[in-house]
Amino acid sequence: MNNRQLFLQHLAQTTDFPLMIEVEKAEGVYLFGPKGEKYMDLISGIGVSNVGHRHPKVLQAIQEQLDKYLHLMVYGEYVQSPQSQLAKALCDTLPANLDNVYLVNSGSEAVEGALKLAKRYTGKRNIISCVNAYHGSSHGALSVGGNEIFKRAYRPLLPGVFNIQFGAPKEMDQINEDTAAVILETVQGEAGIRTSTKEYFQALRKKCDETGTLLILDEIQAGFGRTGKFWAFEHYGITPDIIVCAKGMGGGMPIGAFISSQEMMSVFKNNPLLGHITTFGGHPVSSAAALATIEILKNENLISQVEQKADQFKSLLIHPKIKSIRNKGLLMAVEFESFEVVKPIIDRAIELGVITDWFLFCDDSMRIAPPLTISAKEIEEACEIILKAINEA
Ligand code: PMP
Repeated sequence: MNNRQLFLQHLAQTTDFPLMIEVEKAEGVYLFGPKGEKYMDLISGIGVSNVGHRHPKVLQAIQEQLDKYLHLMVYGEYVQSPQSQLAKALCDTLPANLDNVYLVNSGSEAVEGALKLAKRYTGKRNIISCVNAYHGSSHGALSVGGNEIFKRAYRPLLPGVFNIQFGAPKEMDQINEDTAAVILETVQGEAGIRTSTKEYFQALRKKCDETGTLLILDEIQAGFGRTGKFWAFEHYGITPDIIVCAKGMGGGMPIGAFISSQEMMSVFKNNPLLGHITTFGGHPVSSAAALATIEILKNENLISQVEQKADQFKSLLIHPKIKSIRNKGLLMAVEFESFEVVKPIIDRAIELGVITDWFLFCDDSMRIAPPLTISAKEIEEACEIILKAINEA
């Protein structure tokens, strides 16, 4: 059997419509197939390859760590330089209250850790999250998700979770003294790139302060420069109590984190109650890659160019079939009439060498989230192909 047949026969399938693109090598914004196919990757493995595929400095950091050690001990026992250096580098990007990092393996695990921390620190149980939120696929993360169709089959989920509308100030009334935390995406990703206002986030911060509720921001998709700031919450002039991140963090390696204050995190070390335990969290190779990723984002001027690159996409993607473009930096959703319209366009674009996608909770829109390293010429090429795909689909 060839790889495509093995994929279908022996790998658990996650969708009725797998993209089925076979990749032999990746570099920058490009993926290369075994028969010489060349694709421009406009989704970055869903918001992961912010610094491009196989950035040389990420590869170098990985190689240097490979020469030292791989896994040594469960997280939080040995002093490992990549983890300690990464924690410091992360804190340097954040306001002073976010000075303590718990490294994990993925976005979902970061959300689990943040929810447990909020319960443990406040002693409260209720969590408020948003309609159409996506926070991950594990039970806790699913519980605070905001899509009933996804949740239905797995009930009972976590009790005490209430959904409010993202961006609706009136619904904040549901946050009260019994609420341990509010968790929301700074920009809703899987809902199809939905943003809110500075006023909303500031009012939310105020409501949390008044009720003794922790504010958890999920920056798993929006962080690491994707929106034109290192962290998306910087657009809104607020500071969360806990931030969760993953995806773009590792420059292509699996890693995530929940970040808070040393005072808050210290509840996790009080025995005999278990805090959060993870074997592979903050894997040294992933940590080294993440440290290199932060340095690249800081030194290569990528974040300051995000807005301009997003504007270039928006100025080129003009077509009667495009209803609107929603974006926060290079997190973009190109809206069409329906799934029936956008699906053949996405398929045709892939045939023509450009990979886009739709969203978990928004299937009438095309996802565009390219590596931040994409050049003006590559954006031009990509948009030409998308317009061609719209005309030919
Ligand atoms: N939160 C957000 C906002 C996400 O976009 C995702 C992944 N799409 C997750 C959490 C879950 O991350 P992971 O798939 O690494 O568990």
